[in-house]
Amino acid sequence: MIKKDGHTHTRFSHHGSNEPLDDYIERAISLGFTEYVVTEHAPLPMTFLNHFTGPREAHDGSAMLATELAAYQKEVKRVQIKYADHIQIKSGFELDYLADYETELRQFIIMQADWLDELVISVHFLPTQDGLVAPIDFDPDTLAKYFPEIENLPQVVFENYFKILQKSVRFAATLPHDFVIRIGHITLIRKYQKYFNLPKFDDDNQLRIDDLLRQIKDNHFQLDFNTAGLSKPYNGETYPTLDIVRRASHLGMTFVYGSDAHKVSDVGQFYDAAVSDI
Ligand SMILES: [Zn+2]
Ligand SMILES: [Zn+2]
Repeated sequence: MIKKDGHTHTRFSHHGSNEPLDDYIERAISLGFTEYVVTEHAPLPMTFLNHFTGPREAHDGSAMLATELAAYQKEVKRVQIKYADHIQIKSGFELDYLADYETELRQFIIMQADWLDELVISVHFLPTQDGLVAPIDFDPDTLAKYFPEIENLPQVVFENYFKILQKSVRFAATLPHDFVIRIGHITLIRKYQKYFNLPKFDDDNQLRIDDLLRQIKDNHFQLDFNTAGLSKPYNGETYPTLDIVRRASHLGMTFVYGSDAHKVSDVGQFYDAAVSDI
């Protein structure tokens, strides 16, 4: 039986730990995982800073640098060989979807396509009213500062979020197709739900979610079933939330468990609870 962790990070993400990749893999092996996908944040486009607003750490700590790409790939290759008899390690990225940078993102992926086994496409930044983009998952204050409706009109923020997610899936459909594509943590906008006391998605947003699921399914993409939120004090849910998981299961969609590990002890977190929900 395959036991897979499909969403994991490394020391190259700068917002995790400095532990060596070997320790992540050895933890996965000790937990009985047979497959492990390394999905470090791909470098952000060179000119992204021009459109970015928010704490500088949210930019600098969001992804590997373009200058680290070769070292990252070498590192993944090294552990693929070192642990070949114990676990299948796949090479991947988590790609930030940025609506204003589709050309750059596509170009990057095409250049990496030979090397790439699996790609997680995620939305961590949303457009602000000033025509810039800001992070939604850095901290509650940043979310409230750039998306103030989160406090009194949260459905508006949800709407923007799902529209960008839909756009990200349309973009993904334009990529070459010889690697697996998975759509990352599709309810990340709820990360601080307990902090803001966020309501459930309203009927209009539920329809947007249904459209999104159908769009993902029609393109034969997978869904990231991400447990990182379960350990976050203001979240406490899986991404996507269980009601959405049920609807997606009903549509026959493929889920892949992802710990979203940013440190060794996160690898495999809540695996048993998660698979019992799928
Ligand atoms: Zn992510
Ligand atoms: Zn991630």
